Amino acid sequence: MANIELKQLKGIGPSIVEKLNSHGIFNLRDLCFHLPSGYQDRTNVTQVIDLVPGDEKLITVKVVTSQSLYRPRKMMVLKCTDGSGPINIRFFYFHPSQARQLKAGAELVCFGKVSLSRYGLEMIHPEYEMVQPDQSPEQETLTPMYRVPKGIGQKKIRHFILAAIQKLDFDDDFLNLEKYDPSLDMNILDALKAIHNPAPATDIDDILPGGSHPARVRLLKEEMIAFQAGMTFLKRKQKRHHAEPLIEVGSWNKEVTKNFPFELTDAQKRVISEIKEDTAQKVPMMRLVQGDVGSGKTVVAALAAALAIDSSFQVAFMAPTTLLAEQHFVSLKSFFGKEASKVALLTGSTTAKGRKKLLQDIEDMSVRLVVGTHALFQKGVGFPNLALIIIDEQHRFGVNQRLALRKKNDSEISAPHQLTLTATPIPRTLSMSVYANMDVSIIDELPPGRKPIQTSCLPLSGKTKLIERIFAATKNGSKAYWICPLIEESENLDLNAVMESYEDLKEYFGEQKVGCLHGKLSAKDKQLQIQKFKDSQTSILVSTTVVEVGVDIPDADIMVIENAERFGLAQLHQLRGRIGRGSKESFCILLHKDKIGEISSQRLDVLVDTQDGFKIAEKDLEIRGPGEIMGAQQTGIVPMKYTNLVRDSQYLMGTKKVAEVICDEDPELANQLINRWISGSIAFADA
Ligand code: ADP
Ligand code: MG
Repeated sequence: MANIELKQLKGIGPSIVEKLNSHGIFNLRDLCFHLPSGYQDRTNVTQVIDLVPGDEKLITVKVVTSQSLYRPRKMMVLKCTDGSGPINIRFFYFHPSQARQLKAGAELVCFGKVSLSRYGLEMIHPEYEMVQPDQSPEQETLTPMYRVPKGIGQKKIRHFILAAIQKLDFDDDFLNLEKYDPSLDMNILDALKAIHNPAPATDIDDILPGGSHPARVRLLKEEMIAFQAGMTFLKRKQKRHHAEPLIEVGSWNKEVTKNFPFELTDAQKRVISEIKEDTAQKVPMMRLVQGDVGSGKTVVAALAAALAIDSSFQVAFMAPTTLLAEQHFVSLKSFFGKEASKVALLTGSTTAKGRKKLLQDIEDMSVRLVVGTHALFQKGVGFPNLALIIIDEQHRFGVNQRLALRKKNDSEISAPHQLTLTATPIPRTLSMSVYANMDVSIIDELPPGRKPIQTSCLPLSGKTKLIERIFAATKNGSKAYWICPLIEESENLDLNAVMESYEDLKEYFGEQKVGCLHGKLSAKDKQLQIQKFKDSQTSILVSTTVVEVGVDIPDADIMVIENAERFGLAQLHQLRGRIGRGSKESFCILLHKDKIGEISSQRLDVLVDTQDGFKIAEKDLEIRGPGEIMGAQQTGIVPMKYTNLVRDSQYLMGTKKVAEVICDEDPELANQLINRWISGSIAFADA
């Protein structure tokens, strides 16, 4: 039924087809699945005497007088009554033909919002029709409201959708899902009918997105099952590739074990053994390691790299920024001691000459581990023997980039193992679905000896005192980050804010003691600023959020975040994760405008109260509502029409199980589902 063209419907010509296409509606099935975004209740006529200002109601009235006025602006005022009481109807925009039609004696059905002016009850610009003698003004169902392309009115789209539902033969499209989940006993046609034209008594909140009306849940679950079936197939497809088992233990492993100055945490040990188990197989690992900031993901990655290199292969380690790539390069070299010369760095700042030499070294295997940015997957970079790809902070990468890197493996017959590291804390059920094509490991333990970070809020008026206190602390060996907000509209403004604070702080600390870091600096200058701060030449580093991801200077113990109220909670959490990495007691001060709203203050308090990334994510969700938390939906990682993975997470596990059973027992049905819901968009995840 999918392919019945739009133009088969009466009233749809080429220009309407084009408009509908622009809203992702290409055929009659798409029309049927274009669900209302709201409803109006026109099932009952209300007496004027019963109207309450603020109500949206249906009334039938007779025009008593009709006047076109020009004070203060052009308008038409109809004084009307329905016998129970008077009401004025006011139009600011109207056609001369309307003025002629709406004369004294005309009878109208109006739907609109009731307001109260000094002349009494009013409706401004209601939707209206002339009373038809042989037709009840009351609708039999709630009236759906749709997102519409410009140039197609609500009446028109309602009409098209109704016609599409009648024209389609749903028997053809019948998928027997009840067999796999008895709760799916409502058939799809009834569900669509109920959603497009709900019965009069239906609770509107219940049938809107997020509601628990059976029709809503029916469609939602079907979409989720389809999505999860797509992910299940994808995962199976990935597992059909051949991969090189990584089983040797040799000099690289020995070096890490020797050079890593700490005992691994139990969580780190557990994750490493999960990685070992995966990579010993002849199918590619697809594993996501989730661990809060500071949980020690880098050393886990280093051990995984050692495994591959000891088994005589190469490893690519990709970071989202040059800064971070350089830092990983330094840590990895220190972990790999004697083997350090076989670790190399490739970023956008690598010189042409350096790059040429490096490509040669990769080619002849004298370089075994390459750390870099997206420069790693540029043309011309090829690995003769790539067995493992490590991706740090994956949410920064587009899917296509990941795909490109997978293809870097020159071998036709085998695919590399893939290890992804992320600090984005998302609830477990959610990650199991969003990343359903991956296995998930969690580092749920921080290295021992970390003192909790003392976090406090401070209004801007206390800034001078704060600077004095920090100055005193740096005299005693403290090191402080001073973070200025990112002002999205303008990079220059952004820079201004940094430069201003930089100048301010120099007055207190002296020219030599203040460093400055922002996005406009060259990679080399950034590195220099970080190095100086690391070496304690500077004791305070003014920075934009470029330090957010991964910068690791364990003895920095103070962080001030200016205008903290402008940041998202997750981002504040990431930023704060730059301190509290050593054994010193650390302090984070959230500087905010003197007057902030209730919600802002609640949000900042969450950070004061806890340091647990998962809890912060949950609170953020509670306060801000779903939808924003991970941006996956917006960025197209999750191509769903109705499902909001956060809001609807209660159905994730159940539908996942159903999807897996369907994929096993009836792949044809799974394909039909995928076709109906997510055709075309699932290839996205094949990275
Ligand atoms: P993240 O998970 O945020 O990437 P890192 O790998 O950068 O964390 O580690 C954060 C800090 O903790 C680093 O200074 C690292 O050397 C240290 N670290 C990692 N694992 C341990 C451990 N088991 N014991 C003590 N310190 C550790
Ligand atoms: Mg990290």
